[in-house]
Amino acid sequence: MAAVQNVLVVGGGAVGAATATLLADAGVSVDLVEITPDVTALGSGITLQGNALRVLRQLGVLDECLALGYAADQLVIRAPDPAGTVVARVAEHRSGGPDLPASMGMYRPDLARVLVGRAERAGVEVRFSTTLQELTQDDSGVDVRFTDGSTGRYDLVVGADGLRSWTRRLLDVPLETRSVGMGIWRVFAPRPAEVVSSEAVYGGPCYIAGYTPTSEESLYAFLVEDAQDRTTVTDEEKLAIVRRLAGAYGGPWREILASIDDPSAIHYTWFEEHLLDAPWHRGRVVLVGDAVHTCPPTLAQGAALGLEDAAVLAEVLTGADDLDDDLLAGFAARRLPRVREVVEASLQLARWQLAHEQGDVPALMGRIAQLTSAPA
Ligand SMILES: Cc1cc2nc3c(=O)[nH]c(=O)nc-3n(C[C@H](O)[C@H](O)[C@H](O)COP(=O)(O)OP(=O)(O)OC[C@H]3O[C@@H](n4cnc5c(N)ncnc54)[C@H](O)[C@@H]3O)c2cc1C
Repeated sequence: MAAVQNVLVVGGGAVGAATATLLADAGVSVDLVEITPDVTALGSGITLQGNALRVLRQLGVLDECLALGYAADQLVIRAPDPAGTVVARVAEHRSGGPDLPASMGMYRPDLARVLVGRAERAGVEVRFSTTLQELTQDDSGVDVRFTDGSTGRYDLVVGADGLRSWTRRLLDVPLETRSVGMGIWRVFAPRPAEVVSSEAVYGGPCYIAGYTPTSEESLYAFLVEDAQDRTTVTDEEKLAIVRRLAGAYGGPWREILASIDDPSAIHYTWFEEHLLDAPWHRGRVVLVGDAVHTCPPTLAQGAALGLEDAAVLAEVLTGADDLDDDLLAGFAARRLPRVREVVEASLQLARWQLAHEQGDVPALMGRIAQLTSAPA
């Protein structure tokens, strides 16, 4: 028997949906509340590394994701010259194991639909446009009042509500989220036929300008600049900035640039970072995913780490008979060293780029590949 019989998951992102599914598969009754009205995710792409693919396989959705997405085993590095000269083709490490591709690009809304659909099929009761308003807990459970006026009592509440987690705030857990100093433009666009894996250009007007195929037809392109206040840019300005930045690069960027004409397919955000020290729980409420750790996507590991959180939490909860402080403390103790190392390495890469410093990137990448290859 699991340590919990009924659980509330707050947040229907990748981490919440995965946690809910794995618990429901083990016979736990799970409610999931998602504040948005529907399965939503920013209309951009995501790169899922081998350790994330391992969790997708555990969830039984890997084949569906691979059919929708675009798997690859190499990274192409190009020079910031007018021809976009290829300077290296780097074989990516298969951190999920030899039977999984090194990475997979995917359209975020596709991933969200697959994961929430899987949670619903597992029997998770998913409620949109709903969140928790307040919670009170005692030794045997958590009482929750929802924004629609309903109430519930749970053995455990899992806060998977992202970077600015409301659950974290309800628990009064202080955590400062800091800007890394970089901002990223992301564009969803058609895939030029010659782009068959992630490609990156270091230098030029951006720290990094790259793209990753997300399906046979599509890719997401990104341009990383100094963090700036872009909150008031108009659609026309958005297009002009992205065209100017992208226009500085050659090779497949030319074709991508020619297709950039829809401002609604362009998103801007800052790179931010935070990492909560252990414990990640207060009483019977535990936090996972971006709610406790976030880092610049320089290693494309944010969602991967969160999916690992989901798998480890489900394993811990379903492998014990009783929920107590030690069990949840053990969860964070198991996760924190690995998460800290990946967050630190992601930040180090960003710092080197900000300082225009070479740094020993291959050694850092090798260390993280080794780490993420081991079971979470
Ligand atoms: C620019 C950028 C690029 C990235 N690229 C990659 C990448 O290539 N690969 C990778 O692995 N990671 C990447 N990441 C990181 C990745 O996006 C996150 O780590 C991941 O989405 C975290 O998942 P999550 O489920 O914890 O949080 P989220 O994805 O933020 O999901 C949280 C969910 O909770 C909901 N919610 C919020 N508040 C409430 C509330 N009060 N009540 C109920 N629901 C609520 C939200 O609507 C959302 O659905 C990137 C991040 C950024 C910023």
